[in-house]
Amino acid sequence: MNQAIAALRDLLSQPQRIIITMHRDPDADALGSSLGWALFLRRQGHQVTVISPTDYPANLRWLPGIETVLVYEEGAASRKICQQHIANATLICCLDFSALSRLKDLGKVVQEASATKLLVDHHLEPEQFADLMVWDTKAAATAQLIYKVIKELDPSLFQDERDIPIAECLYAGIMTDTGSFRHASTTPEVHLAVADMMRTGFEINRVHRLIYDSSPLSRLQLLGHVLSKIHVLPEYRTSYMTLTAADLELYSSSVGDTDGLVNYGLQVEGVVMTALFVERKGEVKISFRSAGDFSVRDLAHAHFNGGGHRNASGGRTSLSLAETIQRFLAVLPDYQEQLDSVL
Ligand code: 5GP
Ligand code: MN
Repeated sequence: MNQAIAALRDLLSQPQRIIITMHRDPDADALGSSLGWALFLRRQGHQVTVISPTDYPANLRWLPGIETVLVYEEGAASRKICQQHIANATLICCLDFSALSRLKDLGKVVQEASATKLLVDHHLEPEQFADLMVWDTKAAATAQLIYKVIKELDPSLFQDERDIPIAECLYAGIMTDTGSFRHASTTPEVHLAVADMMRTGFEINRVHRLIYDSSPLSRLQLLGHVLSKIHVLPEYRTSYMTLTAADLELYSSSVGDTDGLVNYGLQVEGVVMTALFVERKGEVKISFRSAGDFSVRDLAHAHFNGGGHRNASGGRTSLSLAETIQRFLAVLPDYQEQLDSVL
């Protein structure tokens, strides 16, 4: 990683035309780390374009610099502009994902671009598409890695309110990816990074409220609905929830509204693995969460075309919702022993 940062320092000593992109359906870590990095690079005199493969959740629309984000799949004009920017770029930064398929259609455009590629990520098993890698699976968030990189490049950062926008972006990513500082990934380094950023004087409570306490009423009603029909399988210490396309329509659900719902499944006493199945746009998107050393990443990778982290992973199928759940139930016996042994 230090080698990558040294190479980056070298590269950034000249003005660059930079693209920053992140995984589809970006969360606060993907968008926060991208925007924090963009703010830093712009200040250093680089030309920076941030591209999201898809639209992003409403509760992130306050992030500093969000108004500059281009959404690739918004339409033909937007695709064309993004493609031009990518063709002209000298550096493409890929944040918070480890496989180009996580960019949807944008993946091919990035793959074929001639610019130097930088990966900054904390997911397991990255594909080898980047020239420079700042990659650490022990990092709690990509925003924590961006914090580390920008402090290496400019140790004087976060001394005063001038850096509040960068601090807010990175804090949003770290706060959400650590489940508000309660996941096992919350190390002393995480708290030290946050303490350092707090020297700017940004308001922690404001960030929490903007992200967590600004749901449309319909999202809370959707939560009530999904919780009321949670399935619990005590023999597998597993719970799961489902949302049909009709449910989503009934509760006017939009992008990001289902983020975080899956976590409730782990709150059931005795449960160490949970899944949320969401039927959206002709496919089923699955979110998995686990406790202890049970790896939902391995399960998602082996059976659901997915990946992520040991305790938080996702996948998708083009099967029907019922078939997807059947597959899930069919593979559970293979994991029973592992699930049983989680402390
Ligand atoms: P979520 O359930 O919140 O969508 O995702 C949990 C974690 O799994 C995130 O770190 C996310 O990047 C990863 N993840 C979600 N969906 C997929 C997927 O389809 N493929 C892969 N490789 N990772 C995913
Ligand atoms: Mn992340």
